[in-house]
Amino acid sequence: MIEKLFTQLEELYPEMVDIRRDLHMHPELSHEEVRTPEKVAAFLTELGIEVRTDVGGRGVVGTLKGGKPGKTIALRADFDALPIQDEKDVDYKSQVPGVMHACGHDLHTAGLLGVAKVLSSVRDEIPGTIVFIHQFAEELTPGGAKLMMEDGCLDGVDMIYGAHVMADEPYGTVGVCGGYASSAQDDFEIEVLGQGGHGSSPHTAVDPLVTASQLVVNLQQIVSRRVSPLQSAAVTVGSFHSGDATNIIPDKAVIKGTVRTYDADVRDTVEHAMKQIAKSTCEAAGASVNVDYVRDCPSMYNDANEANRVMEMAKLAVGVDQVQEMAPMTGSEDFAFYQEEIPGVYFIAGGQNPDIGAVYPHHHPMFNADERAMLNVGKVFISSALNYLSDGEIVPNGGQG
Ligand code: MN
Repeated sequence: MIEKLFTQLEELYPEMVDIRRDLHMHPELSHEEVRTPEKVAAFLTELGIEVRTDVGGRGVVGTLKGGKPGKTIALRADFDALPIQDEKDVDYKSQVPGVMHACGHDLHTAGLLGVAKVLSSVRDEIPGTIVFIHQFAEELTPGGAKLMMEDGCLDGVDMIYGAHVMADEPYGTVGVCGGYASSAQDDFEIEVLGQGGHGSSPHTAVDPLVTASQLVVNLQQIVSRRVSPLQSAAVTVGSFHSGDATNIIPDKAVIKGTVRTYDADVRDTVEHAMKQIAKSTCEAAGASVNVDYVRDCPSMYNDANEANRVMEMAKLAVGVDQVQEMAPMTGSEDFAFYQEEIPGVYFIAGGQNPDIGAVYPHHHPMFNADERAMLNVGKVFISSALNYLSDGEIVPNGGQG
């Protein structure tokens, strides 16, 4: 069954490329997507898939009920673009000034539509239900994942898969891992409020610049003294602003930074420690402090057993030599919110190809990826989803890699 579907997907490739290039020419920013969800909904409707639009705002959810009873699995693709000017020299370059699909979400979307078309052709044979989650606004916080979940996109869903085409991994490869697949991202802004004065009379002032400087140093103790050596975290102060004259003690200093963690307990520890250290450092100097700590996105956590399934299916689908253990991504990904609610697996597919100039990093004005990565993502989606729904009965290539 799966071989037939792989062949169908390959035959669909030109159509997937057309869709991808159309989306690429008409990118839409996060929370402003109109044309894209319309295209997605029309395509799914045409396939006879039950479609719900405006999910959580601008999301599209397609539900393909199989002919046999069973579990429900969701496959997710994001479809928003970025505020970047497309500087590639290709005939499908962005036609919208300052907006570009510079992260490959157009590939995700076109790829998942291909998967939906292939799977809908064998719906009677599918033991369970497949939900296609086409998500808006992945690039911004709060992203579309949370909003779509609040609007019920995971209702009745037992398992979810997501994937990213990666331009920094060679085309042809697929990466999967059990456990953490990305870090959590939090941002903070700390306002140290002192009392301004003349630079010649510091004893009459409360110098926020000195106190904030001490705070920057004290914050370095969070990772080194509060977090277990067996776990990891990054606390970075990336911005420090205070004062603008040689002889004036300012009344305020503002520092900003970012926190990356994996484990939820470590995340709590860092936030708590930061607030405690800020409060006590400022108190000791007679200054007051406001800490604005914003939790942007949790870490992605791949269910270990399910990641194993996806890895085995990927080996059968794209070849043993092409599948590797994926290192956790350093960027955040709001797929993590789905995984807080139900088990899921997020994997990557390489899209780097120097022959076509697909060598630039994500979010770069020259970003591009080998479009054939859509086929690899699609094959892993199809084989893993059917293997999951059939409790291991359906296996690609008769189990021969
Ligand atoms: Mn992305």
